[in-house]
Amino acid sequence: MSDDCLFCKIIAGEIPSTEVYRDDDVFAFEDINPVAPTHTLVIPVKHLTDVAAAEEADTELLGKLVMAANKIAEKKGLVKEGFRYVINTGNDGGQTVYHLHLHIFGGRKMNWPPG
Ligand code: 5GP
Ligand code: ZN
Repeated sequence: MSDDCLFCKIIAGEIPSTEVYRDDDVFAFEDINPVAPTHTLVIPVKHLTDVAAAEEADTELLGKLVMAANKIAEKKGLVKEGFRYVINTGNDGGQTVYHLHLHIFGGRKMNWPPG
């Protein structure tokens, strides 16, 4: 846990969130400012600043992140029509919260390329 990290505080329950999924390694909750009918954030319990900070030892953790996202996508009924995962990274990537998170977007047609 990083003391000054918003998402670490959400995992710890110090800041309220709408929980979607939790296990020992992964936590998921609804985005506070949804930009699609489904907009869920999937994060590792371990504080990692961004996906570029992941090391070889985090390989399994990254797999768990995607598998948890898949479970959520399935549970929310997104698989038939499709969905999008996004990991914004750094300033150019549009990252605003520096705790690695995977966005799940679903429930509408997504645009390409991203703006
Ligand atoms: P980023 O821009 O870093 O990829 O995404 C950060 C996301 O976190 C944004 O979509 C933003 O709406 C969401 N967010 C920021 N603060 C909070 C919060 O306090 N609670 C929740 N549930 N989501 C938040
Ligand atoms: Zn954190």
